[in-house]
Amino acid sequence: METNLKERIQIVEGDITKMEVDAIINAANTSLLGGGGVDGAIHRAAGPELLAETKTIGGCPTGEARVTKGYRLPAKWVIHTVGPIWSGGYGDEDELLANCYINSFKAALEIGAATVAFPSISTGVYRFPLERAVNIALRETKFFLQNNQSIKKVIFICFGSDAYKKYQEVFNEVFNQETH
Ligand code: ADP
Repeated sequence: METNLKERIQIVEGDITKMEVDAIINAANTSLLGGGGVDGAIHRAAGPELLAETKTIGGCPTGEARVTKGYRLPAKWVIHTVGPIWSGGYGDEDELLANCYINSFKAALEIGAATVAFPSISTGVYRFPLERAVNIALRETKFFLQNNQSIKKVIFICFGSDAYKKYQEVFNEVFNQETH
């Protein structure tokens, strides 16, 4: 069971816009109208049709998720989720970040996505401490995959070698300990 779990998670260094998966997750902002970082890269790669669709959604609260098509991306779907802005840990940031993962997985189930790719939500412009965010990402993923068989592969896309190393390190901690 544990072995099977580990095999369903992959950590890679790269660009999420290139991923050939059913759905990529976008670290969006509450407007869903695009922005910098990974959000900007996804909008540029998907083309203007993506903005046309997100305009019809009317925004997304922090911690929730909304689905659009992927348009010119290799991915069929984009799951837009809004991470919390780090404010010292006094604004329920941990719980809100966990909700991003939980609600993104729920959305993936609803659209029947079997393969999904996540960026490191909130750890760019939103300044969530990387190690703390990666712990939340991997623990929520482990919990979800333990309770759900329909998602076959979860890929974490690390933008740069520092993020890659941190994901590997936390992965070893989270997956080589007893599950409770
Ligand atoms: P947030 O506002 O949620 O912090 P950012 O886009 O600023 O979102 O950063 C989130 C993470 O996405 C950061 O780790 C950043 O390095 C990474 N990132 C930026 N561009 C890409 C990309 N093309 N593919 C994957 N990750 C990316």
